[in-house]
Amino acid sequence: MNKSFTFIFTFLCSVSIFAQNLQSPSTFLGYDIGTKFSRHHQVVDYFEHVESQFPQQVKLEQYGETNERRPLMLAYISSEENMKNLEQIRENNLKNAGILEGTSTTNDIAIVWLSYNVHGNEASSTEASMLTIFKLLTENAAYLKNTVVIIDPCINPDGRDRYVNWYNETANVPYDIDQQASEHSEPWPGGRPNHYLFDLNRDWAWATQVETQARLKVYNKWMPHIHVDFHEQGINEPYYFAPAAEPFHEIISDWQRDFQTQIGKNHAKYFDAEGWLYFTRERFDLLYPSYGDTYPTYMGAIGMTYEQGGHGRAGLGILNDEGDELTLVDRLTHHTVSGLSTVEISSKNAKQLNTEFGKYFDNSKLLYKSYVLHGDQDKIKSLTQLLDQHEITYGYAQGGKVTGFNYSSSKQGQLNTTQKDLVVSTNQPKGKMVKVLFEPNTKLSDSLTYDITAWSLPYAYGLDAIASKSIITMVNKTFSGYLIELPDTNATAYVLEWDNMMDAQFLADLLKQNIKVRFTEKPFIAQDKTYKRGSLIIVRGDNNKIEDFDNKISKTASKHNRAPKAILSGFSTSGPDFGSPDIKLVNPPKIAMLSGDYTSSLSYGALWHFFEQQLHYPVTSINTENLSRTNLSKYNVLIMPNGYYGGFLNENLTEKIKTWIQAGGKLIAIDGALNSFAGKEGFGLKRNVADSTQEEKQNKTIKYADRERDNTKNLITGAVFKTDVDNTHPMAFGYDDHYFTLKLGSSSYSLLENGYNVAYLGDNPKNVSGYAGQQALKKLDNSLIFGEQRMGSGSIIYMVDNVMFRSFWENGKLFFVNSIFFVNNNLVEL
Ligand SMILES: [Zn+2]
Repeated sequence: MNKSFTFIFTFLCSVSIFAQNLQSPSTFLGYDIGTKFSRHHQVVDYFEHVESQFPQQVKLEQYGETNERRPLMLAYISSEENMKNLEQIRENNLKNAGILEGTSTTNDIAIVWLSYNVHGNEASSTEASMLTIFKLLTENAAYLKNTVVIIDPCINPDGRDRYVNWYNETANVPYDIDQQASEHSEPWPGGRPNHYLFDLNRDWAWATQVETQARLKVYNKWMPHIHVDFHEQGINEPYYFAPAAEPFHEIISDWQRDFQTQIGKNHAKYFDAEGWLYFTRERFDLLYPSYGDTYPTYMGAIGMTYEQGGHGRAGLGILNDEGDELTLVDRLTHHTVSGLSTVEISSKNAKQLNTEFGKYFDNSKLLYKSYVLHGDQDKIKSLTQLLDQHEITYGYAQGGKVTGFNYSSSKQGQLNTTQKDLVVSTNQPKGKMVKVLFEPNTKLSDSLTYDITAWSLPYAYGLDAIASKSIITMVNKTFSGYLIELPDTNATAYVLEWDNMMDAQFLADLLKQNIKVRFTEKPFIAQDKTYKRGSLIIVRGDNNKIEDFDNKISKTASKHNRAPKAILSGFSTSGPDFGSPDIKLVNPPKIAMLSGDYTSSLSYGALWHFFEQQLHYPVTSINTENLSRTNLSKYNVLIMPNGYYGGFLNENLTEKIKTWIQAGGKLIAIDGALNSFAGKEGFGLKRNVADSTQEEKQNKTIKYADRERDNTKNLITGAVFKTDVDNTHPMAFGYDDHYFTLKLGSSSYSLLENGYNVAYLGDNPKNVSGYAGQQALKKLDNSLIFGEQRMGSGSIIYMVDNVMFRSFWENGKLFFVNSIFFVNNNLVEL
């Protein structure tokens, strides 16, 4: 044996030994994959094992951490050659899209991003991610020659482990296929959402959650050509894959449609061979921009949802209604096949994917070239923070007139701009996403949709806006913050206007420091400035016991970037003086909120997140199960999130709540919670019923096949309405005469006869954006949006529209804050 032969022989052996050391998921985990649910840390361990065995072909990256401190991981997988040039491939791709300057040099590598388990209890897909990476490196390694695969094994680790831990605690051994077994019935809130009970598959565009925020940073660095979001649906459903259902957003290109079909046909080949059933082109549409399929689509990718039958009900095995046993093994196998088939077809079309991806970023044909936004500087600031997360660029107006579609009047109009006005142009690589997020009205090719049909950001942020067909020149500017002229030890009081969430955070912080704060119910003038209703007044005389008072105010002001004014005398130029009964002390509320069964976990979660992460004010959660034995007199405010309280609020509990309100409690009922009080004695809330006798007659002859479509006339699928606002009422302090509300459904209540109608719809209301059926519109005539009714010393606050929905309707949040701090702000000790 000569030397060189020995060398080659040893080399070959080491390669094969090397590869043999890569364990399959089953070997590594110590059980056949799919026979147990793997906890998240085991999945991370497996991916680390794969990286350690294939360091030249696999790179792991931790891109973030969940609220419960689990790691968010990505694996980059490709050929050795590509992995050496990974950074260059990434940059080339951004150049191809015009996001990075320079010409792209290679254009034949496909970038495929596979995201698993966004819904924590759709748990088969994370199992599939392990088998998929294993197969990509072994039997399907050929695909990697011209493909970079990015695998996110679990987008929602907190939700997944909530599900898996519960299942492991609960299930029988061997598993029970009986649908009625407790292992098939998850308790509230279930594993679907993240820690704060947000649906991460509704959060891509609003980026309210840490998982989304971390993901968008890497997503924008890569901008993949293909993105797949793996899901599960009910146990009786087969498999769903692309092409998606109508409506498609008009921005979606012919190529994006065509390639979805090609992908679907490739999957069909494998599914047909095995005799697995599937469906396409139904149910899952491409419109609402905050999904794991639409968001990537609007960023130029082929974005898709794949759905396996299974879900939180299925466990390790279940007998479905057709008498078939559906197992976790089946479910993860299907997701593995569709994942690999996606990589295969992408690899086969790598060159064309690159070419077409590049073309997507030509935005020259968009109707509106610029959106100009005018209004409160803090609201503009918070909108720019959202744009930063999407790496959408913006600037500020130079001054001068701008004409175009006016959002407030829904007509052509003009705006005299100043340098404070924000300009967002579609003349940038992400111009199509700008269009999707800003355009006043999304074009609907079909009114049967899976989600809301309106989300236009100027309405959501409460800003006036013009959509202009010309490119408006803009200047760069960094937001310098406010000039804070504190402390001033001569001040009688510090005064701050009340306009937005930042002011609310400032107030919450002061209250937590036991600083007494007043607010005005009437406008006043002091030192030549008019202060509107709701302005905060921090009087020195109220705070004698606070050590280092001026410095504390000053520090808190800079922390929240607020610039309260030092006022030297309590004698106002006009309007109430600081000692007037119209200037009231904020009674720091002790807040309780219902959670658990009968509440909507999404609504509860959004409120929980609001208190903990946005307002930073304490709230006590009380399980509905314990309400009957809860001592309510410890709290001034009780929040009932959206929910289904029908089977819960019996006579005794209703009486208990009423007695507490009469003694001075404040109940805030949101959305579905209103159902429990409508028409009940003592509550002035009445349901609106449209006169539909005429319609009923016609309905009888509607054909079976047309029923579903016919029903859309009764629906509102998330539409924006312009409401009238009584901003003399404390619930509306900080608002103008009008407020654009996002209506999520068609429930409607009459105006309060013995109460305050704070925001409402008048005669013949019309949706300014989104879909509302004719019948549903009729019902909205003169209906309540927000109101307050007094009951004894206390109040009940009705919020028909849920301002916390997915936490993105920024301009609605102050109604909620006002309800807590200002409305019926009596000082009754309960
Ligand atoms: Zn799902």
